Amino acid sequence: MNIRETVEQIKKGILDPKERVTAFLNRIEDTSDLNAFTQIFNDAALLQAENIKNKIQNKQETGKLCGVVIAVKDNINIKNHTTTCASRILQNYTAAFDATVIRRLKEADAIFIGKTNLDEFAMGSSTENSAFGPVKNPLDKERVPGGSSGGSAVAVAAQTCDTALGSETGGSVRQPASFTGTVGLKPSYGRLSRYGLVAFASSLDQIGIFTTTVEDMAEVLQVVAGPDPLDSTCIQQEPPSYTSFLNKDIRNLKIGLPKEFLTENLDRQILNQIMKTAEFLEKEGAAVREISLPMTDFGIATYYILATAEASSNLARYDGVRYGYRNPEALSLSEMYDRTRSEGFGSEVKRRILLGTYVLSSGYYEAYYDKAQRVRRLIKTDYDNAFDAVDVILAPTTPTSAFRLGEKISDPLTMYLSDIFTVSANLAGICAMNIPGGHDDNGMPFGMQLMADSFKEEHLIQLGDYIQKNFKRE
Ligand code: GLN
Repeated sequence: MNIRETVEQIKKGILDPKERVTAFLNRIEDTSDLNAFTQIFNDAALLQAENIKNKIQNKQETGKLCGVVIAVKDNINIKNHTTTCASRILQNYTAAFDATVIRRLKEADAIFIGKTNLDEFAMGSSTENSAFGPVKNPLDKERVPGGSSGGSAVAVAAQTCDTALGSETGGSVRQPASFTGTVGLKPSYGRLSRYGLVAFASSLDQIGIFTTTVEDMAEVLQVVAGPDPLDSTCIQQEPPSYTSFLNKDIRNLKIGLPKEFLTENLDRQILNQIMKTAEFLEKEGAAVREISLPMTDFGIATYYILATAEASSNLARYDGVRYGYRNPEALSLSEMYDRTRSEGFGSEVKRRILLGTYVLSSGYYEAYYDKAQRVRRLIKTDYDNAFDAVDVILAPTTPTSAFRLGEKISDPLTMYLSDIFTVSANLAGICAMNIPGGHDDNGMPFGMQLMADSFKEEHLIQLGDYIQKNFKRE
């Protein structure tokens, strides 16, 4: 049953929100070996369900996501719950306020079931960099679920909730969605408020959503998207009706196949699936053409300079003074900083702080940070040119399906390279979505990526929904 039908049946009293919460809690318990959750809100979720039930019985008005059960990545603040970012440094930090997306979900009567595991401070592509241990892929427990929002992807894939929130800086929703066979959206920069999302790289960060279908994505996006006076980078425009783009034909859409994405670096089976999908779309009346994004190869280098630079600055706030962990034995202020940060951060976070500090240092600023900013502009120009010609770009999300636990963790550069197809959307600020593409010979799912111009999420919804409903895979 999709989210819309679920909400309808809950509102009519056919489905009991408390029974649904109990079923999901049992499912979380049964799948606890996946390590998808950092916290489970047993009592709070049941209480929320009880309140919703009462509201319905008293014929009070209920919201658009009434009784929908949602899991939230543990770098998004929910008031009075801890926000750990899967880091020792924030292990005991309790959020003093709700993120704007959380406030909107509460107003829509959604139910929060727990916080999900992630790579520490959302830095990683496998969810192995967590202070709480790695998350496992439910389709093969020897494999990673992708990252950094691996916990949220698994929470949806393992059917422990209706939907989940993640966050994106360079692919952290789309890549785990690809590895787990779920739908994962990175909205345009500014479409959703970032207020209450713990900052990693502020010019790239955006809250994202996991669902099982594009149809459900439209429902959830509708609730969380929109202006917010608390985030000055959030667009002041109301979003369109996303649900009105469901169940439409695609004859008005122009689709681009970027030749720089469809190379021999890409797994054959993924490439074949994309070509078959393109053929199908053409047959259904969409205009399909090849396009070029010449700066694609520079995406990874640009991303890992800018993201680490911004991270080194954003993470300076964890100094042991204002919040989070503090080393209790240090005898001087500088020793307290040293020991707090040495003990509080894990090794990937330290690597990023070192890299970021280096590229911002006076001797290297022009050579790295400044240069990367210029290349970022060129990448954006690539996409501006592409979207003059097409509405949606059809591309791979990842070069392969899920890799094995431990396979890349000791080689950060190889790990970074797995983000090759996702980082440019964040650099350009556009929106992009993973939809399930098929399964490879290992039986593992892989996804396809749809990209559209900034604030054109409706194109992703229209095309993604059409493919999910009409494209029959053999
Ligand atoms: N894998 C990328 C990184 O490690 C992206 C992370 C993200 O999107 N949060 O930086």
